[in-house]
Amino acid sequence: MSTTTDVPSSEAVRLDSLSKEYGSGPRSVTALDRVSLTFPRGTFTAVMGPSGSGKSTLLRCAAGLERPTDGRVTVAGVDLGPLDERRRTALRRDQIGFVFQSLNLVASLTAAGNVELPSRFAGRRVSRDRVEAALASVGLADRAHHRPGELSGGQQQRVALARALVTRPETLFADEPTGALDTTASRQVLRLMRRLVDDHGQTVLMVTHDPAAAAFTDLVVFLKDGRVAGRLPLETASPGEPGQAATVAAHMARLED
Ligand code: ADP
Repeated sequence: MSTTTDVPSSEAVRLDSLSKEYGSGPRSVTALDRVSLTFPRGTFTAVMGPSGSGKSTLLRCAAGLERPTDGRVTVAGVDLGPLDERRRTALRRDQIGFVFQSLNLVASLTAAGNVELPSRFAGRRVSRDRVEAALASVGLADRAHHRPGELSGGQQQRVALARALVTRPETLFADEPTGALDTTASRQVLRLMRRLVDDHGQTVLMVTHDPAAAAFTDLVVFLKDGRVAGRLPLETASPGEPGQAATVAAHMARLED
């Protein structure tokens, strides 16, 4: 059964009054408190905020990896709430890519093998051409047969990105994708994500603590104590420009006061 609607939604992801509570009783933690946000197709958004403000929880709920306590998540026009696990898995497989800081690359497989692996698990083996194209799109065409141990941290992160892109997901969720990278490797990964949005109309949601990374996005959403504490639209004429990073940093500092 198809999990997509007939009419493509202009909203890649929509969160309506999303709440998430961990535990119950006096020791319960409210990780998200009635968060409402929309992420239009073809936009790049950064989610920022202090540690514990709910960023990762928001990303996991929006990606259908975790169920909210209350509120609604809509992905590509489909309300995730009523879907059983099988349908949620199908929707994730068809629509969503993930990149996390912990790469989970398999050490014994080549870059190409790692890129191919999730689609093999899903029983939808992708062609060798697709795998090679995904690696080429992240600038690693000549590293397809290298194992993770033979690649730099930035190259490994780009393998993880290629793995997320090989199925051509509509929406990419990235949790601190540049957290472990040096400046040059970070910029390569961020430029790649920018290109996905600008050239292919994909949608990217990225959690980051780094204003320099946020400077590549169209919009920064700030969370504080599980609530939306601010929104900062950015100029996209020159993504990654230091002036943008300074604007983001100043905004962050004001929120932390
Ligand atoms: P951030 O990504 O902004 O650091 P998180 O979304 O990880 O924040 O966490 C938000 C709050 O929810 C924190 O107080 C955290 O301790 C709590 N939390 C997150 N995951 C769990 C969990 N699995 N069980 C209990 N509490 C959790």
